Amino acid sequence: MNDEQSRDLYDRALSVMPGGVNSAVRAAIEPYPFFVRKGDGGHVIDADGNRYIDWVMGLGPLLLGHDLPESVRAGIQRNASEGPMYGAPSEIEVDLAEFVVRHVPSVEKIRFVNSGTEATTSAVRLARGYTGRNKIVVMQGGYHGAQESTLVEGDADDPAPSSAGIPQSFAEHTLPVPFNDEAAVREVFEEHGDDIAAVLTEPILGNRGIVYPEDGYHEFLREITDEHGALLIFDEVITGFRVGGLGCAQSEFGVTPDLTTFGKIVGGGFPVGAIGGRAEIIEQFAPSGPVFQAGTFSGHPVTMAAGLETLQFAAENGVYDHVNGLGEQLRSGLTEILADQAPSYTVTGTDSMFKVIFTRDGPGANSLEEQCSSGCRQRPACPRYDTCPKNGADVAAAETDRWRRIFWGQMKDQGVFLSQNQFECQFVSYAHTDEDVEKTLEAYKEAL
Ligand code: PMP
Repeated sequence: MNDEQSRDLYDRALSVMPGGVNSAVRAAIEPYPFFVRKGDGGHVIDADGNRYIDWVMGLGPLLLGHDLPESVRAGIQRNASEGPMYGAPSEIEVDLAEFVVRHVPSVEKIRFVNSGTEATTSAVRLARGYTGRNKIVVMQGGYHGAQESTLVEGDADDPAPSSAGIPQSFAEHTLPVPFNDEAAVREVFEEHGDDIAAVLTEPILGNRGIVYPEDGYHEFLREITDEHGALLIFDEVITGFRVGGLGCAQSEFGVTPDLTTFGKIVGGGFPVGAIGGRAEIIEQFAPSGPVFQAGTFSGHPVTMAAGLETLQFAAENGVYDHVNGLGEQLRSGLTEILADQAPSYTVTGTDSMFKVIFTRDGPGANSLEEQCSSGCRQRPACPRYDTCPKNGADVAAAETDRWRRIFWGQMKDQGVFLSQNQFECQFVSYAHTDEDVEKTLEAYKEAL
């Protein structure tokens, strides 16, 4: 595979950008990342002209793939060409806000920002401002962006910053617990209940393999937060408008959080984030309330148009049936391949998300007798329920080295672009086809 152009671009990039990239994970491909020239439907074409089936899809925002439908394109162009932004409100912000409020039951009001990170940062500040409390419970292996309150590792007794540059005194306000572990949550509420502002969790862990909640887990979080006067925040930056269709993952689980953070799809491929929730809480944001929140680019007309037109297109064109159907084909095809060739590995995912996790014997082991035929809905009904990863640690114990060797050595060379590391999930778009699925399964067969 010719990659001279990418190598030269990477050399240039290394001279002027840290690690040669603008976001950490992009440099994970070895020996260097390919540089994308353009997208084409469900594919990307790199600087050397190599074509890849793209299951990364911008890390999630591109529900419709790279070729935007005419209505989306027109909305973007109209709003870009009439003066890109104003520092004053415009109608398209109200249109998108109304759309989200109409479709996501827990959202009565919403504020748009510019990234998922900004959304979770503001949601945490809002929860603290609303409750007058300091502490935030998060899930080990969860990810909420590059922000001080959640870049924390360890456990609730010994939280520590997971990045240089964050004071230990900040980390002390964050209480990490294992996902799917009710006892651990009960314990932190017993100890710190009066000072817990919120439990912040992805409804499905999407940044540490894909880990599905056990039946009743979110209901439990809803009850215990209510009992203690804390808020429940769902971080739906990945799952929002992907899992559970336009109602998001919360509608799938039938649990109503107080606040929801959004990103990715709601901006149709442009920089976006949002915090939605109960009106009484969202009203605490400035200028109606005392919690300061502001942004030059927030509610950017081009982003709002891309988001609104994308969601409207999805509502009217069977997009979720298409992407979820291909997701199911990928998961069941992969399950068969693993049963045959790599029985200790696990397929995870739901709706249009999928992942192979290189679990070994023990948690996650996939045996010939107990094949998963239902994607990865890790509910007790699943025949493989007992062996699927239940939390971040189960996934972290997987063979990350093998991910590098197999996927950067083999899948990329066969023209398949998968997420750059073992932990992040992969996405199906409306532009993907049956043929893309078949070719991808063939490539996995070969690689494994
Ligand atoms: N929350 C979740 C669940 C995410 O997956 C991400 C990013 N993948 C973020 C927050 C941060 O979003 P952004 O990268 O747009 O800042």
